[in-house]
Order: sequence, then structure tokens, then C-alpha cells
Amino acid sequence: MDRSELRADCERCVGLCCVAPALSASADFAIDKPAGQPCPNLRPDFRCGIHDQLRQRGFPGCTAYDCFGAGQRVAQVTFAGRDWRTPEVAARLFAAFGVMRQLHELLWYLTEALALPAARPMCDELGRAAAETERLAGHGPDAALAGLDGLDGQDSLDGRDVGAHRTEVGALLRRGSELARAGLGGRGLVGAGLVGRNLRGADLRGADLRGAYLVGADLTGAGLRLADPVGADPRGARLGRADLGTTLFLTQPQVASARGDDGTALPAWISRPVHWSPQGIPWPAASAHEAATPRRSVRSGPAPRSGPAAPGSRRSRRSAGS
Ligand code: SF4
Repeated sequence: MDRSELRADCERCVGLCCVAPALSASADFAIDKPAGQPCPNLRPDFRCGIHDQLRQRGFPGCTAYDCFGAGQRVAQVTFAGRDWRTPEVAARLFAAFGVMRQLHELLWYLTEALALPAARPMCDELGRAAAETERLAGHGPDAALAGLDGLDGQDSLDGRDVGAHRTEVGALLRRGSELARAGLGGRGLVGAGLVGRNLRGADLRGADLRGAYLVGADLTGAGLRLADPVGADPRGARLGRADLGTTLFLTQPQVASARGDDGTALPAWISRPVHWSPQGIPWPAASAHEAATPRRSVRSGPAPRSGPAAPGSRRSRRSAGS
């Protein structure tokens, strides 16, 4: 799948991520907000009224969110332009958004797995998984509006258990990752508690960092070539001069939640966050200890470290004219 369709395009969305999920006041969000209620900063044109000041105003989580393109697909295709202001549509729209984000996240990973030379022996299996994921995501408005009252955020529009599909895809991705990392002698750090750890200059080539807790860790200058951080939580981790150029299955939310600089090597398909630049909006004065506090925000989409999911986070919404 074209990666451009797996990135948030706020211009084609209806502010779904600013309405559907609940927010809890925390280091990531300045306010509490119940699920299904629009954020008070969301304007009637579905743009964020504080887009240029999100970090200063206490919403850094919003700058690190990406729906993997689920928002525009649900808004434009699945619901064909209807939005959540129509009461009879709202609940289904929100549920579909949660499901679609999971499916698009899987497509993000599968797109990368299909391009891995080492995973070529799995090409057919990966292709079938991608096709099935796309099929689950591909329903149009007839299915979306056809009395799917039971849609609960886990079922696809044809009733298939998305959690089970994620588990199947997760197993495939693990195998692909193992093939890609074979022979590198990478460290096994699955689910490792590395919060606030000094990992400056660490050789993490080929490391299995799936689900690792890297919050506030200092990875300055670390080598992460072909490391696999799926589901790892690097919020506030220092990535200055770190080599993530060939890190496997990296996501934009993971990168945006960490602190890098102009010397951080990133894959071509990952954008360098604006707030990483010296001229960017400064980080809150959160220490590693503060950053290590549990994430209190509640967002839609897959939970961290479940299946092949990456951390939930927030993305910025363009304001008018930006
Ligand atoms: S981007 Fe964040 S602050 Fe802005 S409207 Fe959406 S949820 Fe609210």
C-alpha cells in the first residue's frame, strides 16, 4: 500500500481524533474530555484552534499522534462525508475509526515487511495478510450504516474479530523481524524496563526491543540498525545522533514522542518532527522521572504493547492556513 495513505491527512478528516477518544489530564494533555465529546479547542471547521501552540498549552500528546490515515478513510470513504455531528451516525463513526486505526497500523507494518529483502521467503504470506487487512478496511458506507449496532471497536465492519487478525499479523511480523535480524547477535530486550536508563552510544544493532519501556532513556548516539521496537514506548527518550535509519517497523508516533535532533538518522518514510529542531517548540521541562510516570491519557486505537501495536499517542491538527 502507498504509505501516503497511511499517514494522517487532517484536511480530509472531520476531527475524529479530537472527538472520538477520551482524554485524561496528564503530561500529554491539559484537560479531561469524555469519549465522543469534541475537544474544546476543535473549531467548527474541524481544525485545531491552538495548533501552533500545542506544546506550550499542555497538549504535547497531540503533536505525537498519528491515525495512520484512518481518519480520512473513515470520513471520506467508509462514511462518505458524513460526520459525527449527525447523532445517528456518531457512535458508528467513532467505533469504525477505532477499528480502522488498528487496521491501518497493521498495513503500515505490513508495507514495511513486504519491502524487507530478508523477509522475501514470506512474501506470499505477508501479501495475503495485507490483502485481508485491506479487505477488512475497505467497506463502504452501505456496510457502515447497515445497522451495525454491535460494532464495539474490536469488530470489523463485517464482524470479523480485529483482535484475532492483529494476533495473526503480529506473529507474521515477528517472523519477518527475526529473519531481518538474523545473524546480528542483537540483544533480547522484549518488554525490558529501560525507563530513564543511560544507553548513550549503546550498540543495539538487531536488538529485539518489542514492547520495551524506553521512557526517558538516554539513547544519544545509540546504534539501532535493524533493531525492532514494535510496541516500545520511547516517550521523552533522547535520540540525538542515534542511528534509526534502518530500524524496523518504526512509527511516526514513536519518533514524535521522543527527543531527537538534526543528527538523528531516520528512515526515509519517517518525518523529522518539527519540535526536534532547535527552533522548534521546546519540550516541557519533564525529567526522565516525570516522563516515566504512567501514561494517563486515553486514546482510541490499539493499546501499547498489544499485538503488533505501537504506542498510542496524538497528532497535530493543522489550523486554518497552515
Ligand atoms: S489537536 Fe489536540 S488540542 Fe487540538 S483540537 Fe485536537 S485534541 Fe484538541
